[in-house]
Amino acid sequence: MSAFQNAMRQLDLAATAMHLPAPNLERLRQPERIVDVHVPVAMDDGSQRIFHGFRVQYSNARGPYKGGLRFHPQVDLDEVKALSFWMAVKCAVVNVPFGGGKGGVTVNPKDLSIGELERLSRAFIRAIADVIGPDKDVPAPDVNTTPQIMDWMADEYAKIVGTPSPAVITGKTIPNGGSEGRGAATGHGAFRVFEAFRAAHGMDPETATVAVQGFGNAGQEIARLFHHHGYKVVAVSDSRTALHDENGLDIPALIQAKRSTGHLGQPHGSRTVTNEELLRLPCGVLVPSALENQITDANAEALSCRMVLEVANGPTAPEADALLAKRGIPVVPDVLVNAGGVATSYLEWEQNRINEHWTEAGVLTRLEALMDDASHAVMEAAKTYAVTYREAAFIVGLERIRKAQDDVA
Ligand code: NAD
Repeated sequence: MSAFQNAMRQLDLAATAMHLPAPNLERLRQPERIVDVHVPVAMDDGSQRIFHGFRVQYSNARGPYKGGLRFHPQVDLDEVKALSFWMAVKCAVVNVPFGGGKGGVTVNPKDLSIGELERLSRAFIRAIADVIGPDKDVPAPDVNTTPQIMDWMADEYAKIVGTPSPAVITGKTIPNGGSEGRGAATGHGAFRVFEAFRAAHGMDPETATVAVQGFGNAGQEIARLFHHHGYKVVAVSDSRTALHDENGLDIPALIQAKRSTGHLGQPHGSRTVTNEELLRLPCGVLVPSALENQITDANAEALSCRMVLEVANGPTAPEADALLAKRGIPVVPDVLVNAGGVATSYLEWEQNRINEHWTEAGVLTRLEALMDDASHAVMEAAKTYAVTYREAAFIVGLERIRKAQDDVA
């Protein structure tokens, strides 16, 4: 099943449980606007290459469309639609005044030189400039897009509109209007959510082990925080390698290795496993932090974790959700767990609009309050409706979207 079909199944399940009125459900079954572009980019060898990209604006009932831009060879319209829908739900779950959007370019950025990457980033923004803006649609980083790329995009947008407009894009570098704490926000928020659910499930930090799939921006930070708080992180992986050490991996050393060499290496005492084996390792918390559809009906029965903490977007397929629920393994869902990224994007957008720059402590305190409120709302809804945490998170988000839709209907 495709990512968007999965997303629509999740929508239907929650809509049924909460009796979402049909007109509201109908409005959420497709995006409000799809922008599909082909952008020419001059390559270093003098040739021209055309890149295919998208911006999907799913819902702006609660505020400007909001969501990241992904540069990845597997980006297609179906994936971007799913991600934009999840953004609409996520912004509502964490209660920031944004709707949902997402974008992407079908490209492997590792094949481009730095100059080609900059020209592609600027060309993509020129192609979608008409439909974005601080009050219209506010992009941000996602897989393979960086603060540097956001700076290029914000700069290109400023040239087009003729005035600096930092609030058009979040996730910028600090000198260009980025927020303190943004780099660590997704991991920080995810760990905060985990702590709320750990307490509810009586998990002991002394004995709970952790396996993290994906070692990028989000995966590194959540692994670092688990390690920092005394948890044994027994496995991590990137797209090339998965490492396992039942005595616990030295996460700061692995982060250092990944940053300086681009690889995880092979630390003493660890063994190499496949990414599929990583998912099946016995552990307390499995933390998918890479791409969609990693936990499916093909491997859900074989998982031997006590909890799934979804840092990635859409890592668990609906059939796998049902199997895990039957097995009593709670899945703390993406739309809550990784909402710290967009929550801090909101704080960056707010700072840009009022021309302020807040301290990291100030940003993280506000982030923690947003994550705590969202975690408690989801736990409460799970009890009230007797549903899984995913359905509960969707119910919380959809109810807020419904109210906003009805206010302007
Ligand atoms: P990233 O590009 O920095 O890292 C992705 C990581 O996943 C890399 O280590 C890559 O090697 C690894 N990977 C790719 N394919 C893999 C595979 N098949 N098996 C194992 N590892 C694989 O991206 P990111 O920003 O860390 O995002 C990761 C996930 O978290 C995505 O689903 C993204 O949408 C979600 N997310 C990220 C943020 C954020 O602020 N970074 C916010 C919300 C959600």
